[in-house]
Parts: sequence; structure tokens; C-alpha cells
Amino acid sequence: MTEQFVPVEGGCACGSVRYRLDETPYDTGWCHCRVCQHVSGSGGMVFTTVHLDRYRITAGHAEVGRFASTEFGTRTFCRKCGSPLTIHVRHQPDEIDVTAGTLDDPEAVAPGFHIYAAEAPSWVPMMAFLPRHKALRPNTRGLEEGQTEASHDRIDGDGPL
Ligand SMILES: [Zn+2]
Ligand SMILES: [Zn+2]
Repeated sequence: MTEQFVPVEGGCACGSVRYRLDETPYDTGWCHCRVCQHVSGSGGMVFTTVHLDRYRITAGHAEVGRFASTEFGTRTFCRKCGSPLTIHVRHQPDEIDVTAGTLDDPEAVAPGFHIYAAEAPSWVPMMAFLPRHKALRPNTRGLEEGQTEASHDRIDGDGPL
């Protein structure tokens, strides 16, 4: 059985920042939290996940800006064009969520759920067949079983990004 792995590539709108995912991304889903609404200027964003060491910036390191968007999450973006690129959360230190819209081929992934659905504006076209979670999923890696909110109190230390 021979499987040829083809890395997934992507980048920002102006082309300054380029990245490569050296594993098949997983856990693709919509996030409708208020920060995603602000960052996207829309009703939510789609992220897909890879392990942190499988995410490589291949061009434009100097253009990558970052900011702490919540007490548990840090986001990166292109300083030139503003494209949101990633979010890294303290409760999943070894993984990183990448904005699906910046993939060269966004069809490479497909969202499987909605998180923070309770914060979504009523005009968001929810895909009725996908599971919706009021906040985080109850089986979120890095959180206690059933815990659906991440907070600084429960997670110690800063992540690597
Ligand atoms: Zn850019
Ligand atoms: Zn969000």
C-alpha cells in the first residue's frame, strides 16, 4: 500500500506570507465566537488543525504579526494585508488551527461542526446537518471532559506561539 502524501499549502491575500502543512489537516470546523467575527468581519471563520511542528511558514516570516485575542488564544495574521492565518490556544499547546480560507485549495478540507454557535448572528447560513455547540465542543482536547469554556485559570503557562 503506497500513499503519496502531498503537503497542503496556503498563504495570505497579498502573497507575502506562505505556509505549508506537513500532515493532513483534521478537525475542520466553523467558529462563530465574537473574536472570529471581528477578525473576519463576518459571521465566523473556518479553521483546520495540524500539529504545531507540521505547520511551517515558508515565506514572509517578517510579515507575520501576532496578538493575544483572548486570555487563552494567540492569533497570527499578515501585517501587509491583514489576512488571518492561525490561532493557537493554551489548552492545545501541540496543535495549531489554520484558517481554511487561506489554503491554496480550500476544498482540501470540509467543516464538520460549528463551535460558539450561540454567538453566531442570526444571518449566518448555518449548515443544518452539522453539529452545533453553544461554546467549545464537550470533548475538546486539553480540556476536562464536559468543559466547554477555556480560561486562563485552568491552563498554566504560555504556548510556544
Ligand atoms: Zn499578506
Ligand atoms: Zn472563534
